[in-house]
Amino acid sequence: MTTTAFRFDNTYARELQGFFVPWKPAAAPAPQLLYLNRELAAELGLDAAALDGEAGAALFAGNALPEGAEPIAQAYAGHQFGGFSPQLGDGRALLLGEVIDRLGRRRDIAFKGSGRTPFSRGGDGKAGVGPMLREVLVGEGVHALGIPTTRALAVAGTGESVFRERVLPGAVLTRVALSHLRVGTFQFFSARGDIDKLRQLVDYAVARHDPDLVDAPDRVLGLLRRVAERQALLVAQWMNVGFIHGVMNTDNMTISGETIDYGPCAFMEAYDPDAKFSSIDHGGRYAYSNQPLIARWNLARLAEALLPLMAGDESEAAIAEAVARATEVIDAFPGLYAAALLRGQRAKLGLLSATPADDEGDTALAGSWLDLLHAHAVDFTLGWRRLADAADGNDAPLRALFGDAPEALEAWLARWRARCAAEGGDAAARAAGMRRVSPWIIPRNHLVEEALEAASDRGDLQPLQRMLAALQRPFEELAEHARHAEPAPQAVTACYRTFCGT
Ligand code: AMP
Ligand code: MG
Repeated sequence: MTTTAFRFDNTYARELQGFFVPWKPAAAPAPQLLYLNRELAAELGLDAAALDGEAGAALFAGNALPEGAEPIAQAYAGHQFGGFSPQLGDGRALLLGEVIDRLGRRRDIAFKGSGRTPFSRGGDGKAGVGPMLREVLVGEGVHALGIPTTRALAVAGTGESVFRERVLPGAVLTRVALSHLRVGTFQFFSARGDIDKLRQLVDYAVARHDPDLVDAPDRVLGLLRRVAERQALLVAQWMNVGFIHGVMNTDNMTISGETIDYGPCAFMEAYDPDAKFSSIDHGGRYAYSNQPLIARWNLARLAEALLPLMAGDESEAAIAEAVARATEVIDAFPGLYAAALLRGQRAKLGLLSATPADDEGDTALAGSWLDLLHAHAVDFTLGWRRLADAADGNDAPLRALFGDAPEALEAWLARWRARCAAEGGDAAARAAGMRRVSPWIIPRNHLVEEALEAASDRGDLQPLQRMLAALQRPFEELAEHARHAEPAPQAVTACYRTFCGT
């Protein structure tokens, strides 16, 4: 097989004229393949061997477009840190097209860092090796944890310098997504008052992501509800592994429910609900505990954008009724989120069965646990992981995380054990179940930086490959991955700042 192996079927380019600008990637002076995701390539029906080496480098750097690709820059708008930008769009990205994967799912294949487009505004359209490999590490880490996410298929160095706070080697990321439809895509057409295009976009989104709603009379509201459901699940999963996205602008929230855009993201170490790492998030808008609130806020913006389609006509009564129905969906979000969060927490607590009567008690039990982690600055990941050992009767590793085993921990453990005993079950099975949902390994920030620095500054991809190997088996405690389970020294975490990859 050759680079022509992508079996493209480009519905976006074919069906949505006026939603994008056809555009070509910039030429890269010296392409070099830095990363290829073989597992994902196979999932897409591609021959990874044929993509390795020079052919892959030329393809993934944007120099040799695969047959059937129809590169386009997509239009979108978005609220960034609460302020509305009516025109953002693919300023440094291009959608090459769509491929049906081995499971029959339609997947977007897109470049990021492939040069200027009509949406670039002041930007150079480029990306650095470090930020693109960060998408690889954190994205693959999130994927291995079972959380929906866009994924990196490849990263190619361009051989060009990119100018940021300092000079970086340039790179192009090839990203795979269920689609690149965002809340901001709807906002773009709604803000222009282009109702026909807005309707066309809803029809496209429903056909692609919620085909069972195609004939539903209230499919606009149905789509909003589905997006709310997917985002409730997604953000609950983030929260249960301590993931902080860092820049939940409406242009970075997908309709598909996948995590997208690994810029100033980070995994929390010592548990702190106020944790934030982004250098530009001064007010903590996108701090850990704000994520579900921001998701709801973003959904409200989606609802606003869709409103012109929900009201049957422009009469005051029709609009009021549409607002009421959309508000109902938005108001249901906190409940959906809380239920998803509690489901995940129960699994992490080793609770196998629950009735609605248990909700209040279990929520309080999980809350007290998190309060304990917070009060004693316990590493979020290891705290949960060592709780699984305690379920097995081995309390020592957990106590060690708390230093002098405070009485508060003992009191909480007694409460938890009483709840577990009440539902019965085998201790070993309970512990095994907990270890299936509470990882031992997450992308540790200091190791992410170390791997990116080696790749970007010295062209050494070994640390990245070693880290990927560990991240791919997050629930197993393998001696050779022990380094990846260790939190950063407190002093490092205290100063840790992440930056937008721009
Ligand atoms: P992001 O922060 O990556 O989600 O990007 C937000 C917006 O800024 C999008 O419209 C991007 O296309 C645009 N953008 C980010 N970086 C660049 C760049 N280097 N050149 C041009 N546009 C960019
Ligand atoms: Mg973005």
